[in-house]
Amino acid sequence: MSENLKPALAICCAAILALLAAACRSDDPAPTPTTAPAPTATTAPAPTTAPAPTATTAPAPTATTAPAPTATTAPAPTAEPEEPADGGAAFQIPPPTMTMLADGVYHYFGFFTSSLVVISDGEVLITDTSNPLRAQSLKEEIAKLTDSPVTTIALTHEHYDHVGGTGVFEDATIICQWNCQFAFALSPFEDVPTVDETFDDFMEVRVGDKVVELHHLGPGDGEATTVIYMPAERIIVTADMYEPRALTHKNWVDDKNFTGTRRILNTISGWDIEHAINAHSPGTDPVDLHENVEYYNDLYDAVKAAVDEAIEQAGGSVFAAYGLFDTLPQTLELEKYRSWAEYDSSLPRHVERMLLAIYHGD
Ligand SMILES: [Zn+2]
Repeated sequence: MSENLKPALAICCAAILALLAAACRSDDPAPTPTTAPAPTATTAPAPTTAPAPTATTAPAPTATTAPAPTATTAPAPTAEPEEPADGGAAFQIPPPTMTMLADGVYHYFGFFTSSLVVISDGEVLITDTSNPLRAQSLKEEIAKLTDSPVTTIALTHEHYDHVGGTGVFEDATIICQWNCQFAFALSPFEDVPTVDETFDDFMEVRVGDKVVELHHLGPGDGEATTVIYMPAERIIVTADMYEPRALTHKNWVDDKNFTGTRRILNTISGWDIEHAINAHSPGTDPVDLHENVEYYNDLYDAVKAAVDEAIEQAGGSVFAAYGLFDTLPQTLELEKYRSWAEYDSSLPRHVERMLLAIYHGD
């Protein structure tokens, strides 16, 4: 369990980042949440024909042999969080890092959140801005690499800890999967983005001579979960579906579709990947993805077996398994993952959520 992850889990979603966002919210544009426009020309047509990734063979995990990324900048923090208004201790935010993963492709990690940065031929694509303070830091770090403005922001999913602050990049085209509009329409915050382009299942974005694919493979962490993939560079951004050797904290799993997350992780683990960026930790080793595929498969298998057994014992009645909601979260153990962070605190909730997904679809 990385020390970096602990604060990330604590901060993970809306509460604290919303606090940070509040400091600069006045810089953001007024929301227009209910009118996400129709997809534009670059959207792939049929929902069922999202192209397969260019490589279908899962690479052997490069976990222990992946070359150390070249850190191009590890600058001093560009912004310090203010002392909380309630007089509590200031939250310590480590300085952001910008790590080169391939020619013109970088991983920015700051404010406990990842962004992909793609720079080519005068164009710049980034993912999740998160909040105005972080977006400003991201802008300053990009300015150290290129004079080109950010032209495209691709959002990985609809959760508010990922989508604030887009107004810092005034002329960027904002892309989010079609389902984003429903969550944005419900936001009490002013800094939900004005989405310029949406897509259904697949969209290809060209950034200079680079290809960035946006894949919607169904619900994962939220309904709009988008996996971002650069086939030539073998780089993937996995949205917010896993952390290295940690169970997603129980506070943040209510909008995670557990069977959906399992399906997406199984699908993408077969793609050709050298670097796998996840939402809230600085590492990009694909082994973290592969270990989480195993975790979600093991969790599914254990819960499904208990459901099958309960139904069988009741002579085939599916209603028999309703009782499992009261017992299984307290009794099921997955010994293999006992050393993972948040195992004790969050496994019961994971069992509950997997049970609901198997039973109810969500
Ligand atoms: Zn999320």
